[in-house]
Amino acid sequence: MNDLRNESIHLMLNLSTVCNLACRYCIVDAGRAYGAQEQLMSQDTGHTTIDWLFDTFPSSSRYLIGFLGGEPFLNFSTMQSVMKYAIERGNKSGISIEFTAITNGTRINEERISFLRQYPFHLVFSMDGPLTIHDSLRITARGKGTHHMVVKAFEKALGCQSSTFSVGVSCTLTKGTDSDAILQYFRNFEVGSLKMEWVRISNDSALYPDSTDISRYRDTLLHRAEWFTSCMESTGRSPDYTFRNIVARYATNNTHNHHCAAAQSIFGISTIGDIYPCSYFSGDDNYIIGSVRTGLSEDRVKAYLMQTSVMEYEDCRTCAVRNICSGGCPVARRYTGKIDCALTQLEVEAGQKTFEKLIKNDPFCIMAIGNRAAAEELRNGLVQLQLGGCQDDGR
Ligand code: SF4
Ligand code: SF4
Repeated sequence: MNDLRNESIHLMLNLSTVCNLACRYCIVDAGRAYGAQEQLMSQDTGHTTIDWLFDTFPSSSRYLIGFLGGEPFLNFSTMQSVMKYAIERGNKSGISIEFTAITNGTRINEERISFLRQYPFHLVFSMDGPLTIHDSLRITARGKGTHHMVVKAFEKALGCQSSTFSVGVSCTLTKGTDSDAILQYFRNFEVGSLKMEWVRISNDSALYPDSTDISRYRDTLLHRAEWFTSCMESTGRSPDYTFRNIVARYATNNTHNHHCAAAQSIFGISTIGDIYPCSYFSGDDNYIIGSVRTGLSEDRVKAYLMQTSVMEYEDCRTCAVRNICSGGCPVARRYTGKIDCALTQLEVEAGQKTFEKLIKNDPFCIMAIGNRAAAEELRNGLVQLQLGGCQDDGR
C-alpha cells in the first residue's frame, strides 16, 4: 500500500441497507440493491471497523467517519456506540476524529441533535429544494411528499449549529427541475455545505437531464460562481461543495489519475464489515477489497485502482477537463455505464474561471480553501502554478 495511508482517512459506514422512503432516483430500492447483506450493522461490526481503522492507519492525523445507508438513523444505537468508541480510541492515540452523516431527515429529532452536537459533526440533509420540487422526488413508500417533515428537522438542526456542529444539504438535480430556483432556495439558509449534483445513479432514467436542462444550467452556474466568489472574498470560505473541490484542484495544481481517493484514503464498509472502495459499491462482490476482520487485499486494491484510472477510459483521452474530472465517479460508471460529460465540462469551466478570478485578486486565496501546505509552498516559491499538464501522483 502506498504512503497515502498517512493522509486523512475517510470511512463511509453503511449502517443500514434499508430506508423508510422511496425516492424516485434512489438505487437502494428498499434494500434490494445491497443483495443478501444484513440490514443493519451490528455494534460489534461497528467496533471491529474502528479497530481496523486505528490498526491500519496509525500514522494518520485525522479520521472522518461518515454514516450512511439506506437511512443511517434507522440504526442510531450503532451510530452512537461507534462514535463513543471511536472518540475513546482517538483520545488514547491523539488522532483527531470528525463525523458526518447523510440523512433523509425523517428520523432527526431534538434528542438526536443534542447527542450529535456533543461531537465534531457535520449533518447533511438530502433535500431537493422548495416544496413542489422536493415532493415530486423524495416521497414515502405510499407516494406522499416529505418536505414539511424534513424542513422541520432541518431548521431545528440549523438552529443548533456551533463551532463543531454544522449542517449541510445534498441536493440532487433532475430533468426539468429549475436549478436556479433550487439554488436561491438553499441560499436562504445558513448552511455549512451545499452539494448540488445532477442525478448520476438512478432507478429512473426519465430523470436524466437533456439538452434544455444543460443549457439552463449555464445560468445557475454563473450564479453559483458569483455566490462562491463573494463568500470567498468576504469570509474566506464557501458552502458550495462542487466549486470548492474544482477550485481546490486548480489552486493546488493537483491533478490525479483518479476521480476520487476511493480505495486510497476513502473506504466504504458494508453492514457485515466487508471493505469496498466506496460504500455505494456495497453488495457487489466484484468490488470487495477486504474485510475489517482480515484486512485489505493489496491485490484487489491495485486491481480497482488500475481499472478506474482515467488512463483506462478511451472517452477521456482527449477531454479538455481530464486533469480535473479524472474520469468521473466510478460508482456512476458502474451503474449507468457512462458519465454526463457535458455537465461536468460546464462545471469545470465555471470553476476554472472562478479560480482565475480569485487568484488574480489574491494569489494566496488557496489558503482560504483549506490547503495551507500548498499555499506555503506557493508562497515560498517551491511550486509554480500551472494550469494543465497531468501529474501522475499515483491516483
Ligand atoms: S468529463 Fe467525461 S470525458 Fe472528460 S474526464 Fe470526465 S468523464 Fe472523462
Ligand atoms: S466512487 Fe463516486 S460516490 Fe464514491 S467516493 Fe468516489 S466520487 Fe464519491
